[in-house]
Amino acid sequence: MTVPPTSNYPPTALTIAGSDSGGGAGAQADLKTFLACHVHGMSAITAVTVQNSLGVTGFYELAPHAVAEQIESVVTDIGVGAAKTGMLASAAIMAAVAQTVQRLRVYPFVVDPVAASQHGDPLLRPDALDALRAVIIPLATLVTPNLGEVKLLTGVEVRTRADMDDAARALHALGPQWVLVKGGHLADAEAVDVLFDGTSFIELSAPRFDTPHTHGSGDTLAAAITAGLARGLDVPAAVRLGKKFISGAVQGSFPLGAGLGPVGHFWRVKEWPDD
Ligand code: PLP
Repeated sequence: MTVPPTSNYPPTALTIAGSDSGGGAGAQADLKTFLACHVHGMSAITAVTVQNSLGVTGFYELAPHAVAEQIESVVTDIGVGAAKTGMLASAAIMAAVAQTVQRLRVYPFVVDPVAASQHGDPLLRPDALDALRAVIIPLATLVTPNLGEVKLLTGVEVRTRADMDDAARALHALGPQWVLVKGGHLADAEAVDVLFDGTSFIELSAPRFDTPHTHGSGDTLAAAITAGLARGLDVPAAVRLGKKFISGAVQGSFPLGAGLGPVGHFWRVKEWPDD
């Protein structure tokens, strides 16, 4: 479903994700990013996390059918130009999401295979990893793992730039159309990501900006890519747009609370709104 470029109304995008009470990651990050990328954002909440800048102290899952109903409600009335997943929490929620996304042909479909927070707090039940591999990733237009998620999903340990190609191949074998392996955690001067469609590799690099305040960075990148797809861009163009957005947001990040602050979703909002 691609929104016609002639429309006077903003394109629409849906996040299927967990709520972050601290507002830096999850569905909140996705909705702020959609706004900053001039896309009307919608949400199907999967779980409510209890978290602040110090970490996640608990989460409460919604019933799988409640997640499916939220997706169906917005798809059948408003229309979804592109969708993304974040925290899917359990195998049962994944099964419901996969069934609904397939039945309603929700596409493009970006999968951010969230497993844990930056503090290392789990956001996925241990039994859900198999479902992520078997029922969610094969539906993806694009899957966007970081190096920790690559290791969990494929067993490939990425230590060098060359290992990233092997990781991308191993992930592509799970069935998505495109894979973006994010090398941000490698100790190089540049943050290099590898985009792979099963045939050729595109290397995307950006200067590394050193800050501990990167809470929500993975969600924000995937949401900006989803916004680009909702606007009708192809995958490489949407990923380039996403990289540009996350670079600005990381440079615009700020401390908040006593722990890890969020990336700045409003870095492109230059004017102070009038009263
Ligand atoms: N909370 C929720 C609901 C999330 O979806 C995510 C990541 O996707 C996080 C927390 C973790 O964000 P980070 O890894 O940036 O701390």
